[in-house]
Amino acid sequence: MFDKIEHIGIAVKDMAKSKKLFSSLFNQNPYKEEAVDSEYVNTVFYQTGESKIELLEATSSDSAIAKFIEKKGEGIHHIAFGVKDIYLEIQRLKDEGFVFINETPKQGADNKWVVFLHPKGSNSVLIELCQDR
Ligand code: ZN
Repeated sequence: MFDKIEHIGIAVKDMAKSKKLFSSLFNQNPYKEEAVDSEYVNTVFYQTGESKIELLEATSSDSAIAKFIEKKGEGIHHIAFGVKDIYLEIQRLKDEGFVFINETPKQGADNKWVVFLHPKGSNSVLIELCQDR
C-alpha cells in the first residue's frame, strides 16, 4: 500500500535561484541540502505539511535531470510515494505488469531506499517509491 505522497520532485536549472524562489514561496528555508553523486544531482528539501518538495539540479550533462530539462524544460519531474515494504510493492507492481527503471532499491537522498517506475507505463508520470533507510 502507498502511505502518502512523500514528496514531489521538481527539476530546476539554477538551484541558487530556485532555492530563493521556493524559500520565499514557502516562507521557510530548506531543511536539507544533499548532493547525490551517483545520480549527478544536487537536492534541496522543504517540508510542506506531511509531504515534501524536492528540488533537483543536475551536476553533469549525464544526469537524468539534465536530459529531462533538455526535453521538457523545468518543472515537476516525479511523484514519490512512501511505502513501508518496498520489496513487497515492487513484486506486486511487477505482477501487475509495471516496468521499473531500477528494480533493486538504491540509496536516494534524504535517507531513503528508492525505485522508479518507467513513465511509459504510468501515463508519462515518473513514479518513485521510497522507504526510510
Ligand atoms: Zn525523489
